[in-house]
Amino acid sequence: MQLLKDRILKDGYVVSGNILKVDSFLNHQIDGRLMKEIGIEFKNRFADQKIDKVLTIEASGIAIAVMTSMVLDVPMVFAKKKKPSTMGDAYTAVVHSFTKGIDYDITVAKEFINEGENILIVDDFLANGHAALGLAKLVKDANANVAGIGIVIEKGFQNGSKLLKDNGFRVESLAIIDKLEDNKIYLK
Ligand code: 5GP
Repeated sequence: MQLLKDRILKDGYVVSGNILKVDSFLNHQIDGRLMKEIGIEFKNRFADQKIDKVLTIEASGIAIAVMTSMVLDVPMVFAKKKKPSTMGDAYTAVVHSFTKGIDYDITVAKEFINEGENILIVDDFLANGHAALGLAKLVKDANANVAGIGIVIEKGFQNGSKLLKDNGFRVESLAIIDKLEDNKIYLK
């Protein structure tokens, strides 16, 4: 997706070796127009799939998932990183955070993923694939289907894409980073 690639090169920057910061348009301040184009691109990439719902993980996935769900005209739901005391029965999975280096639980109330639904998973980054795999586990636990996994920025030098494909999931990444070297971003 050229618009996204141009923006990454213009406004993205590298921190601590292999982490890309895109806080000015994706992860903190959000460019709504770009987000809408991302939603349209995901719709086009998964046009051959019936999608009933979009699933992501808080916080950075929410804007992406909202736009995608608006374009697809289906609901979206986000997994929470802390289970509220008011939440009833829930699906949970343990995810290892790539950026924080810790394990945490992700949770979705059972009422929001229904048996047989086709769920499109979306997220901002794909590194080692643990967040997406955790979301896929929630879907499977609900006896629903993963229609595909849509990623805005894949770090192609990490093994997330391979892990997800080895587990049988279709992955569509809108921009793939070949390497981050000497504070420079090299896109595929
Ligand atoms: P994974 O679970 O695939 O290892 O990591 C994906 C998650 O970690 C994403 O939800 C994202 O929040 C975070 N993440 C991984 N790599 C990066 C990165 O280079 N930059 C930013 N901003 N977040 C990242």
